[in-house]
Amino acid sequence: MSLRVGFLGLGTMGTPMASNLLKAGLKVQVWNRTASKAAPLASLGAKVGKSPAHVAAESDVIITMLGGPQDVEQVVLGENGVAEGIKSGAVLVDMSTVSPATSRKLAGAVAAKQAEFLDAPVVGSKGPATAGELVILVGGLPQTLERCRPILQAMGKIIIHAGGVGAGSALKLATNLMLAHLAAGFAEGLLLVQRAGLDPKRYLEVLEASTFRSPWYQTKGVGMVKREFAVHFALKHMHKDLRLMGELASDVKADLPITRAIQQLFEQAEVSGRAELDYSAILAQLESVSA
Ligand code: NAP
Repeated sequence: MSLRVGFLGLGTMGTPMASNLLKAGLKVQVWNRTASKAAPLASLGAKVGKSPAHVAAESDVIITMLGGPQDVEQVVLGENGVAEGIKSGAVLVDMSTVSPATSRKLAGAVAAKQAEFLDAPVVGSKGPATAGELVILVGGLPQTLERCRPILQAMGKIIIHAGGVGAGSALKLATNLMLAHLAAGFAEGLLLVQRAGLDPKRYLEVLEASTFRSPWYQTKGVGMVKREFAVHFALKHMHKDLRLMGELASDVKADLPITRAIQQLFEQAEVSGRAELDYSAILAQLESVSA
């Protein structure tokens, strides 16, 4: 493949995703706000760019994997941003979890430079990102997806075309809604089991034997029982996603009372200093208010 890929954002997810592009033999130029995080990628053969605008000017496909909507807007639309450097005919692929409204705004900005856009948020955490086994949810034109498919395939095992620009972001938020409910529900069940003097391992055993068993219990569930909250998906990002679900729900006139309650729980957890822990630390938040 001769496409030149620019990759902006080398956090928990971006670093293994960009590594997989290099392992697939692609020419990759990276940039990260905290420059030191680019060093491991440089040692794998990536060129390190000076700014988002510089990387965009030298890339056919530019990928962003940043925090939330404001962060992506800053890197794309701000000073020395992607929109300043992007070439006519290039594609911006935003893989961060943002709102569909943000995806449409980014698409409009690059369209003004005759460039194309895909929103392509991912399902799967650090493990699947490292293994190149993410599920990628794409919004945008089918022909734009086909141009980018070989690049996305280096990072993911399943690519789902959700619809036009913003559809990938909307589908991702609906998916994380289930994850937030699962985490909050399991945390409440675990608290109940613990306070009732039962063995949490028996609880996991029952869930595993039930019709709603999930690999999630073997990773996050076991981790929560052991109280291991090392970050794979930061609690602050889950809280951001819950806020974005609320915004989308209000835009499309869908009332989500349970999701609203879970969002308040995550908000309390963030205010209590748990923002940088894994989202599974919602258990610690519940315990602290149930003391
Ligand atoms: P992360 O570890 O917090 O990394 C965030 C990255 O964005 C870092 O490279 C950070 O740069 C950069 N960044 C943040 N704000 C910025 C700004 N204003 N200007 C420039 N750079 C900025 O996040 P992550 O876990 O990799 O997640 C990235 C995205 O994927 C998020 O939208 C998240 O919701 C989504 N996601 C995460 C997971 C997961 O399991 N972790 C799974 C699916 C989707 P610095 O290094 O300078 O801070």
